[in-house]
Amino acid sequence: MTTQTLNGTSRPISRPLAVAVNSTWRENAACAGKEAEDFFSDTPGTQRRVRSICHNKCPVLVRCLATILESEGERGYKWGIYGGLTADQRRALRCEAILGNVPDLAQARMLTSLKWRHVLYPMRYRGANPTEMAQELEAYGLSVSPVTVRIAVWWLGGRAPVLPRRGAGDRRSDWQLIRDECRTVVLQLRDGGATGYDIAAYLNVRRGAVEEAVRSWNRDASASFSTVGEEMAA
Ligand code: SF4
Repeated sequence: MTTQTLNGTSRPISRPLAVAVNSTWRENAACAGKEAEDFFSDTPGTQRRVRSICHNKCPVLVRCLATILESEGERGYKWGIYGGLTADQRRALRCEAILGNVPDLAQARMLTSLKWRHVLYPMRYRGANPTEMAQELEAYGLSVSPVTVRIAVWWLGGRAPVLPRRGAGDRRSDWQLIRDECRTVVLQLRDGGATGYDIAAYLNVRRGAVEEAVRSWNRDASASFSTVGEEMAA
């Protein structure tokens, strides 16, 4: 048990913090004085409440996310909510980085302003994915990358899926969709060092769906997927 809070002041907590507690920017954090345990909760309701503190009240949201992304780097193990994102969402960002997709965090923050929420919400309700949303935003004179839109949607509480959209009457399950349409990207991520957990987080599916797709590729006699299968079975 230590005596640090999430913002480096003096309440007792039981787990270490990944973000450097000596950084002066943390003095302005909205989590100052909040129970650190809440930021490491597995309960969806608590996670939603905590993320809402980050999104809606924290003046250092962008700095916090940039810092945790840098400090976690390529380490496979991520936990807790930092910068308004869950560990899985940060895993997805690791995959985005492998794919060469670098977000503009300040621009993502701008997209969560009232003005841009009114533009993004209708797109979300229509089920647009981040790539489609980025294309639509061009009509507003805004050049923004899909990964930047993805972070903005996450900060606004949405899902921002990247799995290919199913057409009308397409009853394929997630694993079948991955099997049929995501082989190239899964290989690319695997070759870039992403774990099965990372890939599942990137695709926003259960890990089992990725495992099942990998098994189907392996059954098709492609030994090239065996390392993904072994790692995911571990
Ligand atoms: S973004 Fe969230 S975790 Fe980071 S400093 Fe702000 S309130 Fe704390």
